[in-house]
Amino acid sequence: MSLSSSHGSENQYLMTLLNTYEPRYSSLFHNNPDGMFCCTIDTALVEVNSSLTRFCGYNRSELLHRCLTELILPECQDNLANVLTAVKQGAVKRFHVGLLHKNGEQLYAEMTAIPIIINKKVVGIHGIIRDVTNELRIQQSAEKAKFYDPLTKLPNRILLYRHLQQAILKHNPDRILAVMVLDLDRFKVINDTLGRDFGDQLLCQIAERMRAELTSSDFIARLAGNEFVIVIKRNSEVELEQFCQTLQQEIAAPMEISGHRFAITASGGICRLSDSEPEVDALIRCASIALYQAKQGSRGSLVYYTPEFGLHTMRSIQLESALKDALAKSQFLLHYQPQIDLDSGRIIGVEALVRWNHPELGMVPPLEFIPAAERTGMIVPLGEWILTAACQQFRVWLDQGCTLSRLSVNISVTQFNQSNFCEQVLSILEETGLDPGYLELEITESQLLNVEAVINKIQKLRARGVKIAIDDFGTGYSPLSHLRQIAIDTLKIDKGFIEEITTNNRDRVIVKTIINMARLMQLNLIAKGVETSEQLHFLNQHSLREVQGYYFSPPLPNYELEKLLVKV
Ligand code: C2E
Ligand code: MG
Repeated sequence: MSLSSSHGSENQYLMTLLNTYEPRYSSLFHNNPDGMFCCTIDTALVEVNSSLTRFCGYNRSELLHRCLTELILPECQDNLANVLTAVKQGAVKRFHVGLLHKNGEQLYAEMTAIPIIINKKVVGIHGIIRDVTNELRIQQSAEKAKFYDPLTKLPNRILLYRHLQQAILKHNPDRILAVMVLDLDRFKVINDTLGRDFGDQLLCQIAERMRAELTSSDFIARLAGNEFVIVIKRNSEVELEQFCQTLQQEIAAPMEISGHRFAITASGGICRLSDSEPEVDALIRCASIALYQAKQGSRGSLVYYTPEFGLHTMRSIQLESALKDALAKSQFLLHYQPQIDLDSGRIIGVEALVRWNHPELGMVPPLEFIPAAERTGMIVPLGEWILTAACQQFRVWLDQGCTLSRLSVNISVTQFNQSNFCEQVLSILEETGLDPGYLELEITESQLLNVEAVINKIQKLRARGVKIAIDDFGTGYSPLSHLRQIAIDTLKIDKGFIEEITTNNRDRVIVKTIINMARLMQLNLIAKGVETSEQLHFLNQHSLREVQGYYFSPPLPNYELEKLLVKV
């Protein structure tokens, strides 16, 4: 903006005014660490201090040829105009404003505009500019942290709720609005075994893949952990179906992380707006119920919510919440299943198996609540309780003179992966006074996925005499190579193989192979799930010496098992 000649005389007037200020006021102006300016009522700059020149990058003479408004960001012009109208009427105003640095950078300031009044007439404006750029940036990044997940940079729950609320309000009934809740399968095991960094990279890659599949009207958020929510708008069921399929295919495509080629699937639950109450909470809840159903099926399942879903899922959800205080309420107990030595026909060991006796739900089977305990983290205190209670009981039986040589205790992935797991086991043994040589910890093949992470723990425990068994052997992920690296004591053949041993030739071959392998590797071997004399006969024929199963006894409460124990 160029200055008119009338501005020229106003400038002169204001300049004279400034120069006649007392020196102390002049110092206040020129030496002020905040930017100071004096301008005409039309915002032509008449004087500026050095703080202002530093702040906006122009030197004094460049600024004195400009209007204040030229320095202000376009989006702040309206507000400035309103403020100046009030100042011209005599008001003092303090406000936030955005300015443009000479190098193009955006700056933010708190500006105070004070009218210069002479003979009751506003003849100019004094301004104080305080740099708040850094404060504002910090505030903005705090705002961002409030709404975005720092890892994947996806919107978080708060933004999801806002977006979904709007989507419901503006929903066009000719289109389909659906919410999909996605959960990566086996993510916890991967995270626990391959490490958090690996898990984080995996989440970021998957987030990126999902984002790439969305249209501009879709919305994705990360809720927590490995749970994502997508708000989908499509014209037809077919389009929705296609989107879901492509999304899952993209997620499942192999990827490379830290040099490992890797693939993961995601299970999903979908709820269309037409199948639920038109409310954010209801939609997400119904999609989560559908996800819960999907998780019960095979990996990578996708389930659409229908209002008929109900009791079964509600029970599972109820279980998860009841589980939280089950330990404090002493609702757990242990049963023990005998392990038989076929040579002597005697009980040589017992496997401790946890039971949950809920006052309303009844006896809840471990296959139902152990996964829930894993999901909620409850498994850690529960696992500690199981180990302590089993060692105490076993010690009592030994003290009573029972000839038992093995106490098998199942250890879940999360429990095993606790950094203080070994110390915990050893201190429980010490507290209960049980010789470590009696204890055998059952871990599953999936726990061997990350050899480096488990090898130290296994070595440490074995060095103290504790034994390690691989449970459900033959059902997991190619553990043979790992068995070369990790010294263990026992293999437990999964009951799935034993079940059809008399009818299925493939299972027979597998069991024979495992028996030979264990013999060659000098590993102890136990067959689980032996139910019939035919199965027993086959195992006997192939010189398998130790068995466990209903044929001999189901898991029993301690007082029932005591009746079977031989005392010396
Ligand atoms: P698992 O370690 O494979 O335990 C053996 C399961 O097979 C037990 O089921 C047992 O009752 C059942 N069983 C025993 N003999 C037979 C048989 O002849 N036929 C058939 N069909 N089944 C038989 P349970 O007690 O329901 O436990 C199921 C699973 O829950 C266990 O499988 C284990 O993975 C987990 N679990 C049980 N107790 C614990 C525990 O204390 N801690 C942890 N982490 N997991 C546990
Ligand atoms: Mg077991």
